[in-house]
Amino acid sequence: MAWNINNNKCLRCGGCVSVCPTAALELRDNIIHDEKLCTLCGVCEKACPVEAIKVTKK
Ligand code: SF4
Ligand code: SF4
Repeated sequence: MAWNINNNKCLRCGGCVSVCPTAALELRDNIIHDEKLCTLCGVCEKACPVEAIKVTKK
C-alpha cells in the first residue's frame, strides 16, 4: 500500500489538497503527504488533472 507523487508532473494547483477527506495533504513548495492521516481512498488521485498522484492498494 502506498501513496506516491511525481513532483515533476505536479502543477501545485492544490486540487488534491482541497478534496482529501482526511486533510492528509498540504501544499508547500511541494505537496506534503501525512501517511498517518491517509486512508489510501484514492480521491486525490482521481482529482489530479495531470495524474501526478498514484495510490496503490494491495
Ligand atoms: S488517498 Fe485519500 S486520504 Fe490519502 S491523501 Fe489522497 S485523498 Fe487524502
Ligand atoms: S492535484 Fe495534482 S497537480 Fe494539483 S497539486 Fe495535487 S498532485 Fe499537484
